Amino acid sequence: MKILVVEDEDTIREVVAAYLNQAGFTTMEAEDGEKALELLDKNSFDLIVLDLNLPKVDGIEVCKTVRKTSKIPIIMLTARVEEIDELIGLESGADDYVKKPFKPSVLVARIKALLRRTKSSEEKIKVGELIIDPEKMKIKKNEDSLEFTTTQFNILYTLAKEPGKVFTRDKLLDSAYDSSLPPDILDRTIDAHIKAIRKKIEENTRKPKYILTVIGKGYKFSEEV
Ligand code: CA
Repeated sequence: MKILVVEDEDTIREVVAAYLNQAGFTTMEAEDGEKALELLDKNSFDLIVLDLNLPKVDGIEVCKTVRKTSKIPIIMLTARVEEIDELIGLESGADDYVKKPFKPSVLVARIKALLRRTKSSEEKIKVGELIIDPEKMKIKKNEDSLEFTTTQFNILYTLAKEPGKVFTRDKLLDSAYDSSLPPDILDRTIDAHIKAIRKKIEENTRKPKYILTVIGKGYKFSEEV
């Protein structure tokens, strides 16, 4: 995960970058809006931390420019409460804001939360011969629509969203079922669903290429499709 930190005050920018690095993120830094736009042009980022008051091109302008072409999550930094009103009033396209002064740990927590929210936003996944469309709850293989139950759709979508990540059966139950449903569903229910999903998407269910079994743990979506 790569984050662009845009802030003209050196100390704040450096501290934020250091905390983010410690939290496992890669960072790039820009000390003004112009540099930020330059870096955005040449690199791809997963999130932007953007100070509102910046030399050359201010934060709002950077935000608006970015929004013309990208949905990348943006957290604004702002020193005054009035600026927050302004930010929201202007509909700058920022996803969240943090008021200065802030604790770096709080900013990191907000960044993680925003990344989680964005991740769960419903984007189409194209992988191998499959197109998984969460908005329409539809799955296509080589342009043919496949029939999926909601639960099976949710299981496949959950796995495909994070290839390589191992999901225990419990975790899959959590993400696949509406939480209002009674939790009396057994592990083998998941196994039965996986079996049904494989029948629909795999050429050879004995040698699945999409959903892989991780013995003693659960399932994962292949990273090599
Ligand atoms: Ca500033």
